[in-house]
Amino acid sequence: LIAAGQAQRSVATTCAYCGVGCGFVAEVKGEQVVRMVPDKSGGANAGHACVKGRFAWSYATHPDRVTTPMIRESIDAPWRQVSWDEALAYAASEFRRIQAKYGRLAVGGITSSRCTNEETYLVQKLVRAGFGNNNVDTCARVCHSPTGYGLKQTLGESAGTQDFESVLSADVVVVIGANPTDGHPVFGSLLKKRIRQGAELIVIDPRAIDLVRTPHVAAAHHLALRPGTNVAMINALAHVIVAEGLVDEAFVAERCEPEAFAAWREFVLQQENSPEVVSGITGVSADAIRTAARLYAGAGNGAIYYGLGVTEHSQGSTMVMGIANLAMATGNIGRPGVGVNPLRGQNNVQGSCDMGSFPHELPGYRSVADAAVREAFEARWGVTLDPEPGLRIPNMFDAAIAGSYKGMYVQGEDMAQSDPNTQHVQAALRSLECLVVQDIFFNETAKFAHVFLPGASFLEKDGTFTNAERRISRVRKVMEPLSGKADWQATQALAQALGVAMDYRHPSEIMDEIAALTPSFAGVSYDRLDAAGSLQWPCNDASPAGTPIMHTEQFTRGLGRFVVTEYVPTTEKVTRRFPLILTTGRILSQYNVGAQTRRTANTAWHGEDRLDIHPLDAADRGIADGDWVHIESRAGETRLRARVSERMQPGVVYTTFHFPNSGANVVTTDNSDWATNCPEYKVTAVQVSLGEQP
Ligand code: SF4
Repeated sequence: LIAAGQAQRSVATTCAYCGVGCGFVAEVKGEQVVRMVPDKSGGANAGHACVKGRFAWSYATHPDRVTTPMIRESIDAPWRQVSWDEALAYAASEFRRIQAKYGRLAVGGITSSRCTNEETYLVQKLVRAGFGNNNVDTCARVCHSPTGYGLKQTLGESAGTQDFESVLSADVVVVIGANPTDGHPVFGSLLKKRIRQGAELIVIDPRAIDLVRTPHVAAAHHLALRPGTNVAMINALAHVIVAEGLVDEAFVAERCEPEAFAAWREFVLQQENSPEVVSGITGVSADAIRTAARLYAGAGNGAIYYGLGVTEHSQGSTMVMGIANLAMATGNIGRPGVGVNPLRGQNNVQGSCDMGSFPHELPGYRSVADAAVREAFEARWGVTLDPEPGLRIPNMFDAAIAGSYKGMYVQGEDMAQSDPNTQHVQAALRSLECLVVQDIFFNETAKFAHVFLPGASFLEKDGTFTNAERRISRVRKVMEPLSGKADWQATQALAQALGVAMDYRHPSEIMDEIAALTPSFAGVSYDRLDAAGSLQWPCNDASPAGTPIMHTEQFTRGLGRFVVTEYVPTTEKVTRRFPLILTTGRILSQYNVGAQTRRTANTAWHGEDRLDIHPLDAADRGIADGDWVHIESRAGETRLRARVSERMQPGVVYTTFHFPNSGANVVTTDNSDWATNCPEYKVTAVQVSLGEQP
């Protein structure tokens, strides 16, 4: 290691971990990063950072990096190291062979929320222009797809309404199904600052997260609801607001569709949505529900922040719309301190969705069925586009098992570890005739691959990320790609091998094309990003400096639309055989499947996934802290060590999925959101018993 202070040059770039999108300055000597210093001029972080961004970047040069392309004819055959040209030619010929044999729709691709906007744009372009179908999806499918759907239905734009700084103007902050101090630490600090200044905090979460327990911050109002009952809770909050005359009638009359509001008002007033009835569903007292509703509706500025505890449910989209309903009803939209704010998990979840990674939408959330939109892309790309929506990720797996889907190009995503019901995913991957995996490490999904293309870390490429506040920030190359190609170059070469016209010389040219074809990005260019530091979309003639806060005068869709949000209980029931509910999440020092953080010193702090269990449930089963336990669900079984914790409520257990050997997703089921197929990671009925060390 080179001591800090010996750096020869510095490069401003953006953290590649969470959706906060902190700016960093990489200090470099030769080709080696000496340290990462939080950028004081970073638009999202103003000089702050967390342990992941500051210390967990050494994975970029970890010996596990795969830097040479590889191919094998079957998943039982040994890998052969080959040249880029041979690997790409083999992949292209296999995709064409599959399409000739099984049809145009038998192949597709998956983009990554870890990669840049430019890279995800190229992958969806390759699928649409090269494969001739819309079988492209993003790993956002399994996290925030309900946000995209729910906010578009109600507000008209598939994105959060506010910049992070807005929280400093909030009087009441409601955090639902999010754990900002672990998942979005720099924003979590901003939120805690506001709470210390005197804002009220309401936490709606099954677990006593840090915000409930931290001294001087502790939420006065913790609504510890049962997992799976979010929609009942939001309806009860709405019931109180309507029944007690707390609606902002002037805002609703001016800004929202009157018929939809009337239908919603009638719905929420039904007895089934009363706090007394909902208390029996959620386990939260009617008084606590009433108090929270009055507090939020009565605030000068009430802001809602939410995370995957909202989206990863069978009613994830319904809950997102319920949150938007509540914000519109109370007039908490369109100014600092308010809004509906999804805390995006990965660094570029927002961007991968913006870039047309969904099978029904081209870049800018415009339907593939819209002929005028297609024509614009067709004119630029020189192809004819398919007007039919393609397959979502779970549909790809189902089609693979059914035998109609045979080839897939996966960039920077590890479905075999991160997607639910691992057995089903593995069966689908095993049935493919050509799986191309592009990643920086040989991940779990690569075990089923026929072609492995080495990926590039964020330090090895130029591009942009878009964070949870729609902030587009530059990623700048710090060192040359270890494999010789950045991801966008590999995708371009694969597209060329498929006969697609692509000849970008630099990612800035890709952004220029995005801007030309996507109205909300029309004012974005690398020159403008370099001059401004970052830009928040929409950024165009109507808003040349970008848009920190949306929906200020009117909603993107014109009038806001209330949606009736009926509570439909999940089909994942607890029974005598499976009496506990398992819910999953993340911890501060690790990151998702851990491919990066597990290869850094962060592992020293948290080196394994554990099962958190309430003392009563542990005592019932004779389980002590640190014991190995056996976890069984309808989908599968695994073993973990237990952590007995009063953070849990009785009847609910919790774990993370940072380590592949923990098998958390072996037990999660393939239940999913009714609108988007986002998996129901947050509710799995399980039994837990004392077990042997595996
Ligand atoms: Fe990176 Fe998120 Fe930490 Fe910022 S808060 S340093 S973006 S992981």
